[in-house]
Amino acid sequence: MTKSKPILSASTNPKDYCIATMGSHSALQILKGARDEGVRNLVICKKGTERPYKSYGVADEMLLVDDWSEWNESLEEELIRRNAILIPHGSFVAYLGPERVMKTQAMYYGTKEILKWESDRSLERQWLEKAGIQMPRLFKKPEDIDRPVIVKFHGAQGGFGYFIAKTSEQFYEVKNRKYPDQNEYALQEYIVGVPLYVHYFYSSITKELEIMSFDKRYESNADSIGRIRAEDQLAANIFTSYTIVGNIPVVVRESMLPKFFEMGENVVAESRHLKVGNGLFGPFCLECIVTRKLQIFVFEISARIVAGTNPFVEGSPYTALRYSEPMSTGRRIARDIKQAIEQGRLDEILG
Ligand code: AMP
Ligand code: AMP
Repeated sequence: MTKSKPILSASTNPKDYCIATMGSHSALQILKGARDEGVRNLVICKKGTERPYKSYGVADEMLLVDDWSEWNESLEEELIRRNAILIPHGSFVAYLGPERVMKTQAMYYGTKEILKWESDRSLERQWLEKAGIQMPRLFKKPEDIDRPVIVKFHGAQGGFGYFIAKTSEQFYEVKNRKYPDQNEYALQEYIVGVPLYVHYFYSSITKELEIMSFDKRYESNADSIGRIRAEDQLAANIFTSYTIVGNIPVVVRESMLPKFFEMGENVVAESRHLKVGNGLFGPFCLECIVTRKLQIFVFEISARIVAGTNPFVEGSPYTALRYSEPMSTGRRIARDIKQAIEQGRLDEILG
């Protein structure tokens, strides 16, 4: 059997392509964004999870799989046959794993190799620190803990399984009791401040960096503990956890904006030195904690669309300033793709 090959930059008509994504995370927004830009779309759903994509009527086409393990050559052949451009998001990477994502054959929006830099905590730190970004201190071993730390197990998804420890004794007590088999973790200084997620978009077509929006997360049970008295918290022996449940829009103090622009620009500029394809472009997010002295600590980077952009399907206060039509991050991606196709520059945005 001869494999169908992606047309790549052969056609400069966006109608010859389709924007495809996995049904979860930020798919609704991505699909609607494609449609708003007049590009066909396709969603791949695990059977039983297709209802939202039908109910909201945002998908032109739907492919169903029994399980994500069916993300195989024949599914990819289908995508290639349809000239689909895949948009990666958090669930895509979480369900397929970075290795399988690296092997995808269909057209892929973004730089795949950057996944290695964002998923490896020490590479990520190298990149961000070189970009002049302030990060929480990292402790090499539990015995070094001399202040509150947040313990992050590798592969923990959606903040589930994080816990706080103030001493090595406390660390071992919780770890051995609740996570006896998990031995890979990061011990990060716990920064007291408010979490803030900055949603950027850098277009390698227009060469401009935009701040699309900001969010904070709604996490269980970190966001519920304050609802009961400290004494009751102690009595109930509650441990803080950070399971993501939803996202809440934020507008920041305007005088902080210049700093956020500078941080985003430096991270994009530094990505050019990582020697990975065309570096960082498209949507990305700096996950910050802002302290009472307005110091900004970045504890993580997501080099793709984050679900915190979901409240802004109709655009954010920031995109309303720049665009005369509703501009979600999903739609901004579709516009980037459309412009690249029309200008015969598709190869510049595929990884
Ligand atoms: P899900 O498809 O909802 O099971 O999500 C898969 C992964 O994507 C989660 O483990 C999270 O890491 C991430 N994720 C999903 N939804 C959100 C959200 N609303 N905010 C932040 N991260 C999310
Ligand atoms: P993550 O799943 O890595 O996005 O983190 C989940 C949550 O943990 C964040 O929303 C923050 O509330 C919290 N968090 C992560 N790292 C730190 C840190 N170094 N200091 C304080 N809070 C943190």
